[in-house]
Amino acid sequence: MKKPAVFLDRDGTLIEDVGFIRDVARVEFYPDTIEALRRLRDFALFIVTNQSGIAKGLISADEAHGINQFVVQHLAEAGITIQAVYCCPHERADGCECIKPNPYFPRIAERDFGIDLTRSYVVGDHPSDAELADRVGAKGIYVLTGHGLKHREELPADRTIVAGIEEASAAIVRSHAASLLNAGGVVAFPTETVYGLGADASNEAAVRRVFRIKGRPENHPLIVHIADADMMTEWAVDLPNAAIRLAERFWPGPLTLIVPKSSRVPDIVTGGQASVGLRVPSHPLALALLKEFGGGIAAPSANRFGLVSPTTAEHVRRDLGDDVDYVVDGGACDVGLESTIVDLTSDRPGILRPGGVTQEEIEATLGYKVPVAMTSDVRVSGQLKTHYAPRAAVVLAPQNELEQRARELQTMGHEVRILSPTDLEPQNLFASLRRADDEGAAFILASAPEGQGLGLAVADRLQKAAAPRDSAD
Ligand SMILES: [Zn+2]
Repeated sequence: MKKPAVFLDRDGTLIEDVGFIRDVARVEFYPDTIEALRRLRDFALFIVTNQSGIAKGLISADEAHGINQFVVQHLAEAGITIQAVYCCPHERADGCECIKPNPYFPRIAERDFGIDLTRSYVVGDHPSDAELADRVGAKGIYVLTGHGLKHREELPADRTIVAGIEEASAAIVRSHAASLLNAGGVVAFPTETVYGLGADASNEAAVRRVFRIKGRPENHPLIVHIADADMMTEWAVDLPNAAIRLAERFWPGPLTLIVPKSSRVPDIVTGGQASVGLRVPSHPLALALLKEFGGGIAAPSANRFGLVSPTTAEHVRRDLGDDVDYVVDGGACDVGLESTIVDLTSDRPGILRPGGVTQEEIEATLGYKVPVAMTSDVRVSGQLKTHYAPRAAVVLAPQNELEQRARELQTMGHEVRILSPTDLEPQNLFASLRRADDEGAAFILASAPEGQGLGLAVADRLQKAAAPRDSAD
């Protein structure tokens, strides 16, 4: 498949525009250039620059080339590959075909590197960068660094305008992910709980692919993520008052509400049930993606079924590799445990899965008892007895017996890890289980925390990790 690219202007976009520059000592990268470009690892990156100082006799071609080489080398040292630097040495009066906005260089990239220009982006601080994007069917992102502020008024009204390279990179990631979702693709994205494996919730074929990638039985429903509480009425009917109150109090946040579904929700999303789980995540990238996409994103955790949930983009890449079309990298998740699931399909709400919002908080909001009902007629995510399981066997024991149990297992020749109280913090739990696996542990010993507050959710995940493995379906 042809690759998408990002064509980056040099001066005023990646480095400070200091006029005609011949001395590498004067090259100043913007502070967020490296981080911004790292996030674009799935794109082929090119620099397209006009150095009219060469035509004017103010700098030599060799000097311009030296600066380009320096920029490429600096980025390479940070692990960022620039495929090619395209440099126009002319000035506009020369009437050359390579000066922006003529499409000359992107066409060369298309030919030489197999670039799909219609899925590509042009980033720059000059209106000619925006026009270049138009001419090749790419999307233009205009930055206000360099000459950006000066020429802003010359831009047509519908342009994407951002503060600088960092925001440009975030906009590209979002736009790329939303386009893939619209085309029926499967995209992993960060939420505040864990990474989700998302597809357009109204696209049955796309949702089916999520089940296939995860290896998840199709009778297990997916949560539909939406951008705000107002969208609930598109996906649900007969909304109970309690649902509205919980949404007002905890959204965006780690709470999933099970409500009667509208006809818009395909059966594949709900496992054939008449109810649907809805949630507004609070992670800024997830929210921005949902807003840009505009629809609902059906998403379970972005890992193979029954295994430990991913809390970093690297976990997702290691688990799912090329099966997923794109991974939106948002760093490590804050909460690190899945959302709390509350069933609101009957008169008596119940908690079907403990998670990031506590039972106490839910009861305080509704003003009555909301029992933790782990069995119910409603099937929800993560409710199987065995789930969240690392490769190592998980053994639960009281805190004061852990050392003794560890010694016994070690005597028998097993590699053992004991999870510390810090490892059992909600945001660390899944990463700790993964680390023990990576270190080759055969046994993981832990003492489950008290069953209240967030401890209830941690205890729930530990018990599922420790459950017999033969019942994974
Ligand atoms: Zn030229």
